[in-house]
Amino acid sequence: MTATAPVAPRSVPYFNYQKAFTEREDELMGIVRDVLRRGAFIMQKDLADFEAHLAAYLGVKHVIGVANATDGLHFAWRAAGLKAGDEVILSSHTMAATAAAIHFAGGVPVPVEVGPDRCIDPSSIERAITKKTVAICPTQLNGRTADMDALQTIADRHGLFILEDSAQALGSTFKGRYAGTFGKAGAFSFYPAKILGCPGDGGAVVTNDDAVAEKVRLLRDHGRDAHGDVVEWGLNSRLDNLFAAILDWQFKDYPAIIGRRRAIAALYDAGLRDLPELGLPPAPDSDPRHFDVFQNYEIEADRRDELKDFLRQNGIGTLIQWGGKALHHFPAHKMQVSLPVTDRFFTRCLMLPLNTMISDDDVAYVIATVRRFYGR
Ligand SMILES: *Cc1c(COP(=O)(O)O)cnc(C)c1O
Repeated sequence: MTATAPVAPRSVPYFNYQKAFTEREDELMGIVRDVLRRGAFIMQKDLADFEAHLAAYLGVKHVIGVANATDGLHFAWRAAGLKAGDEVILSSHTMAATAAAIHFAGGVPVPVEVGPDRCIDPSSIERAITKKTVAICPTQLNGRTADMDALQTIADRHGLFILEDSAQALGSTFKGRYAGTFGKAGAFSFYPAKILGCPGDGGAVVTNDDAVAEKVRLLRDHGRDAHGDVVEWGLNSRLDNLFAAILDWQFKDYPAIIGRRRAIAALYDAGLRDLPELGLPPAPDSDPRHFDVFQNYEIEADRRDELKDFLRQNGIGTLIQWGGKALHHFPAHKMQVSLPVTDRFFTRCLMLPLNTMISDDDVAYVIATVRRFYGR
């Protein structure tokens, strides 16, 4: 990067939960007042409206709001017919939730390697396939959609189906098609720090399969059909109407929100690309097949822990994803696999602040501080 005017030291928190509210306090309180005055709490019009708007955006037949993406994935697996002992291949670089959803639907999550783009490495899948394998579950990580052509080719060759953990990737596309819409179903998360976040937990399942949609609808609401008759075993995992109203309001700005995130990623890329100590994620326009929405900006870094400390001392918040552990690193998961690429990745990965609350100057300060750490 050519040197520009230095920016003043400042605090750049990784994510500012208070500011996410205070920035738009009046509008948010207006929505709260409106919904509460109407007494519209559970499965009301605001939820139906949000589901319809999300469906139109994604070009998908069904959107079912649920209490969180973890439940959404669990329901999607049940609805897709996962049976006891069925194996599902997923990247070890994902949230425990991806694997837990498979586990609670009766399946066995089988982790494989992460690729250079932080998504599942297609070349590590086939050696993990057994007679019991039924599906591949790509996590569309950091707002990037995996190479779905490569995954579909493997799935077709072995008679597997795909179901996506698209929790981090609302708006991300591969060859023009949205994350979440490739396989039998996908799930999105509206956890507060997700790109489309609400003031609490929230999620949605999306699918083009009528039978899967019907089953997920029953699972989220006590097995009750449209007439209130219990026709199936069900649970309670509904997206609150109030949160749906807030999400629907925020969603109007979604293209601008994604645009800003991509602009910040482009600044990081331009400012850090020449550092040999780092491995950057793919730049926003580096591959025309991919449209990434940058839920996270996850770099690889030499002397990662020292860099993290240095940034903290200089007021900059960073995060190591999943508390620094891949799925197969948690003893409780009892996953007996050897994944050396992922093991190495987890000694080097670090996420820099990227959200709509930070300014270009904040980004410049982060870049300058990283460069200072490496003496450049
Ligand atoms: C956030 C997240 C989840 C879980 O979403 P919740 O809504 O918190 O249940 C699952 N998978 C990935 C990749 C996530 O980032």
